[in-house]
Formats: sequence, C-alpha cells, structure tokens
Amino acid sequence: MGNEGVCPQEMMGGGPSVSMEDIEDAETITCEKCKSVVFHHGFVIKKTSALSKVGEQVFEIPIVYCAMCGTPVKDSCPITL
Ligand SMILES: [Zn+2]
Repeated sequence: MGNEGVCPQEMMGGGPSVSMEDIEDAETITCEKCKSVVFHHGFVIKKTSALSKVGEQVFEIPIVYCAMCGTPVKDSCPITL
C-alpha cells in the first residue's frame, strides 16, 4: 500500500535494538597506555582569552578517561587537548 522500502525498525527511531549478544561481540575499548577496560567520566576545562573574539569564557568539555592511569580516550574527546 505504497509503503515499500520503509523498514519497521527504522520507524521506531533510535536504530535497531541491541541484544546482550551483540554487545558481547562488540569491540572492548581499552586504555592505549595500560590496557585497562574501566573508565570514568570527567571534564576538561578550557578558558578562552579575554582578548579573543569571543571574550573570556569557560567551557567544560566532557571526556572519558582511564580509571587506572588517567589517560583520556581519544574517541571520547571532541577536541585536541
Ligand atoms: Zn590507562
């Protein structure tokens, strides 16, 4: 009835559902320094200069870092530290 090409799962939004098996098969991200698999959430704080075009502003950049050695996960950080 004219609805060809529409996948029912896509109409639910949020992408295909993920099972525990899918997660077990997925790659485990490890710390590039110490190979730990446990991470914490944290923030990097950046402050722009009062002389910059946006003036003095403080930004909290959310990152994920290694719980063992504190190395940030590159993929988690949107900017270069
Ligand atoms: Zn580490």
